Amino acid sequence: MSSNIQLIFEKENETTQKNFVPKMDIEQTGLNEILPENLQRKDLPIPNIPEIEIVRHFIKLSNRNYGGDTGIYPLGSCTMKYNPKVNETIAKLSGFTHVHPLQEENQGCLELLYHISRQLGEITGMDGFTLQPAAGAHGELVGLLIMKKFFESRGVKKQKIIIPDSAHGTNPASAKMAGFSIIELTSNEFGEVPLDQLEFAMQEGDVAGIMLTNPNTLGVFDRQIKEITRIVHDNGGLCYYDGANLNPMLGICRPRDMGFDIVHLNLHKTFSTPHGGGGPGSGPVGVVKEFIPFLPKPCLISTEKGIICREDDDLSIGRIKAFWGNFGVIIRAYAYILALGAEGLKKVGQIAVLNANYLRILLQKKFNLPFNRICQHEFVLSDQGMPNEVSTEDIAKRILDYGMYAPTIYFPLIVPGALMIEPTETESKQSLDNFVEVMNNIYEEARTHPELLKNAPQNMPVKRLDAVTAARKPILHD
Ligand SMILES: *Cc1c(COP(=O)(O)O)cnc(C)c1O
Repeated sequence: MSSNIQLIFEKENETTQKNFVPKMDIEQTGLNEILPENLQRKDLPIPNIPEIEIVRHFIKLSNRNYGGDTGIYPLGSCTMKYNPKVNETIAKLSGFTHVHPLQEENQGCLELLYHISRQLGEITGMDGFTLQPAAGAHGELVGLLIMKKFFESRGVKKQKIIIPDSAHGTNPASAKMAGFSIIELTSNEFGEVPLDQLEFAMQEGDVAGIMLTNPNTLGVFDRQIKEITRIVHDNGGLCYYDGANLNPMLGICRPRDMGFDIVHLNLHKTFSTPHGGGGPGSGPVGVVKEFIPFLPKPCLISTEKGIICREDDDLSIGRIKAFWGNFGVIIRAYAYILALGAEGLKKVGQIAVLNANYLRILLQKKFNLPFNRICQHEFVLSDQGMPNEVSTEDIAKRILDYGMYAPTIYFPLIVPGALMIEPTETESKQSLDNFVEVMNNIYEEARTHPELLKNAPQNMPVKRLDAVTAARKPILHD
């Protein structure tokens, strides 16, 4: 497309209308002092084309885009659910968008922040929340810094964190960033934490605790969760819960009741904010009472005079972002929670689990399912045993040809050739059946016309990229 536009530029420049840009009405002096001559442009080919051409150009580009509003988006661990449009309307209200965070009269906004902290507390069982972290990984870092500061405040040095190999990839990265070294646990045949390994690892002495993704990246809920937290606590450690994928847990069980001390949530996933392009996100962190003083400051508290920001906690890990966090995302989450209420949230959890299991049962008839048990929000297929050595990448690219988005691929690493599928609660039975039909067609094609898959995608604007050449000889400019 860009080359078409370029053609139009050139044609127009050859011909008419050189005075498209109005003449400057001030004297143009001193430019050479601001910008050296060799960096100045001699010519600026501004296109002079009809509005309709531009409109068509951008509409064509936008039609190439794919999102939750276009069709199913089963990208495992990302919870690409439908985001109700009313949340957008509410986030755009001028009372929210025209307020300065530090102006005197912003009780309404402070109350919103305070109320959603309380709601998240109710959903997770935690006693205090910070809304500052800008994403899930940011929340993880905050949680780990709290653990670190807690032990420092007691004069104890703890340098290690236990992380199972079924954790989300950000967990070890955040632990490293917070200055911990990592003890990895190998999941057992059920995709769960092996208790004997855990007990052994906790004996190492300088272990700060465990960081657990639950349900984990296999979509598995660890049935021994209470045993896990007991073992860690009995050995002087703390329990961190990665609650980025809280969707299937909503209204059904709470990290606090499983024995966890600290949790982060991803509002942009579970609580419905569009999050395809990398942000903005929101990763609030909740803690049990003992750790409230360690939360980032300033912290919002309720007083007789209203909601105020408190700054004076000596134990706080300090500032990690402005106290209002990514306010727009928080407003959307607040609207979502209020619209659904307790019963609605529970239903979200139930249907998310039902939808994932519906797909799991139907797809395992043809595809390999290494951890075959009831799943939560997602499950993971493998390309092992596919006819004609068709790979996960081939399947994923072929799904695009059918006009759907592909699942997460090659993650988690503990499943070879993983296809991680999370339908979310907002897909209808018909949409799920369509997806199964496409997957079954693809399986048949793998048997009878494998070249269709190996050269997929066939109908996309960009064909299969040569990943090896891209990695070995990257072209970093055009
Ligand atoms: C998405 C996700 C994260 C990271 O969240 P970001 O907002 O992308 O930083 C962490 N843990 C799990 C389980 C996730 O699914």
